[in-house]
Amino acid sequence: MYKLDPDSKKFTSTIQNYNFVNTFKIQESTLGEITTDLRLYQCILYIYLEGKIAQKIPIDQNFIIKSENISSYAIDISYIQNEEISDLKIFAHTLDEFLEWKQALQVSRRPIAQSLGNCKICSVRFHLFRKRYYCKSCGNAMCSNCCMYRARLSAYGYRKKQDVCIECVKLLRLPGKVAHGSLFFHRPAIENKSFF
Ligand SMILES: [Zn+2]
Ligand SMILES: [Zn+2]
Repeated sequence: MYKLDPDSKKFTSTIQNYNFVNTFKIQESTLGEITTDLRLYQCILYIYLEGKIAQKIPIDQNFIIKSENISSYAIDISYIQNEEISDLKIFAHTLDEFLEWKQALQVSRRPIAQSLGNCKICSVRFHLFRKRYYCKSCGNAMCSNCCMYRARLSAYGYRKKQDVCIECVKLLRLPGKVAHGSLFFHRPAIENKSFF
């Protein structure tokens, strides 16, 4: 199976290489409880029924791992389809399979890195001596002032703290708030870089 460094600086370019297929017992809003093939490929989760694709679920900001149960190897997911929230529960067979799928799903949620010639927030231009920083929460390129925080973005499968911009920090701090037009269940601890 494909292995990926979870703290890799690369965003989705590496993630595109995931190609997992497993037979799982699942519970899904419209399909009910079934045992079937799931495929994770290029940030899309496919649910198969008798060899045909029954559901195609994009793993994006609207795809959220709500909870996980390490003793029953169950991963609880919510996602938005046709403007409605649907639920999906995946039951893995082993701890390794559970951990591997959980991490692959989290990493697949990472935003795609977006870079313009300027900082997304204050519009200052990047040049040789003004390095761009990527906010790992929204994926945008920023100057050092606008991307000054570090946070544990465990919802994206990171183990170490990552750079986060001042706008995302505001959203991460507020419980129940909507981030980037989507649901956001994880609120990691925030630290200012200048404190360490
Ligand atoms: Zn800036
Ligand atoms: Zn951000």
